[in-house]
Amino acid sequence: MSQPPRPIRRVLVANRGEIAVRVMRTCHELGKETVAVYSDVDRAAPHVQLAGQAVAIGPAPARESYLVIDKILAACKATGADAVHPGYGFLSENEDFADACEAAGITFIGPRAHAMRLMGSKTEARKTVSAAGTPVVPGDNGPEGNGFPDVGSAQAAAARIGYPVLIKAAAGGGGKGMRAVDRSEDFLDALASCKREAASSFGDQHVLIEKYLQRPRHIEIQVFGDSHGNCVYLFERDCSVQRRHQKVLEEAPAPGMTRERRAAMGQAAVDAAKAVGYVGAGTVEFIANQDGSFYFMEMNTRLQVEHPVTEMITGLDLVEWQLRVAAGEALPLRQEQLAIDGHALEARIYAEDPDKGFLPSTGKLLHLSPPAENEHVRVDTGVEQGDTITPHYDPMIAKLIVWDRTRDAALARMRQALAQYRVVGVANNVEFLSRLVGVPSFAQADLDTALIEREQANLFPPKSPVPDEVCLLAALAELQREAAAAAH
Ligand code: ADP
Repeated sequence: MSQPPRPIRRVLVANRGEIAVRVMRTCHELGKETVAVYSDVDRAAPHVQLAGQAVAIGPAPARESYLVIDKILAACKATGADAVHPGYGFLSENEDFADACEAAGITFIGPRAHAMRLMGSKTEARKTVSAAGTPVVPGDNGPEGNGFPDVGSAQAAAARIGYPVLIKAAAGGGGKGMRAVDRSEDFLDALASCKREAASSFGDQHVLIEKYLQRPRHIEIQVFGDSHGNCVYLFERDCSVQRRHQKVLEEAPAPGMTRERRAAMGQAAVDAAKAVGYVGAGTVEFIANQDGSFYFMEMNTRLQVEHPVTEMITGLDLVEWQLRVAAGEALPLRQEQLAIDGHALEARIYAEDPDKGFLPSTGKLLHLSPPAENEHVRVDTGVEQGDTITPHYDPMIAKLIVWDRTRDAALARMRQALAQYRVVGVANNVEFLSRLVGVPSFAQADLDTALIEREQANLFPPKSPVPDEVCLLAALAELQREAAAAAH
């Protein structure tokens, strides 16, 4: 199991935006050199400016640049990079990429391709971890364990599981390829539409069927394995606040978590990771009932977007751990040396319009002023004022992370930080997030995945029309501005 040490000197970050910046910061702190890759529209992006070297890898669409394995490997070769950090998204969970790096003698900072392959498929993952004793959501992978040969067998499985059920694409991710079905009459339509989405998004139509849990919470465990056979858990994150099965707010630790349940979930996660010989940072996602019972949903074989809340409560740098483990070192700490300090919350600041169904927004960031960073407030971002949010990539502007001794104190910090956040030029969700952290159910930690839906009335108050006087004053100001400009 144990590997010879592979010192890392120069890291190519095969990503962009906030995660590329965040990874490079740690590399520099550890005295490692960095290489950025960039598409045509990212030529002047912060991650390019921060890197020691930068390589152009093609046009804006990711499938012609950030997703092209050969271009990334060529960039490694041209710059002498001896390791690649894939960030999240893009090639981070692509086992062919991990294999190709290995074959080229470049250290892939992530798990081995074998673990990614097993965990990349929801059906394979369910099989593997349940064999290791980790509880999985009651459900059915199909007669051969890899989907249903015909609609009849799928319908029969749904009836056996009992409605409501959730149809999931085996290759799914990012909340795509999922259909909840309440009644058997609706099953066939839902199955057809799930398969269509699965085929177009993932090129794979296989589905599995799970019991659709009511008012569940999403609680995930951060795990870390090394190549010496050690594996620990760095506690949990509660990511129950979601819209359309995508995370909006994350926090650590999970409110209401008992010491016993934490240990049980931590151990279940470690067992799941060990079942695939996991090396590096990973996240085991569980869905939990309000009574505390929990089931494995999936494992993400990379650093998660929400990893900073774990860093804030443990005082650790997870990218540093990733680099150490990839270089063949043992984990820096044992389970009994890990502890939770305080409470952290993260909000994802997006260029999107909450009033238009969270439609992504594009355009120039005319004014961007985040709250000041200090020991309580951290802002992870990959854009600056004057940059443009393009339609080519995820429209995340930043992650706002706060920490304090208690959840209430952290929540107060979050409210204050959101009130200070200024974004002008693109539609954004800052006001929506301010309302969200203010709703009583969130403040009281009455969490489940339907919180946003239930709080519609508070979160989307009817817009009061702008009074005529305000429009007149705005028009007057604009005329004055034009007159002043013309006078120059
Ligand atoms: P993805 O890979 O697309 O992120 P997941 O399997 O991680 O999909 O599920 C995403 C979200 O969907 C979960 O966080 C949860 O809110 C919801 N979900 C998934 N499975 C179930 C289930 N069996 N019952 C209820 N909600 C579920």
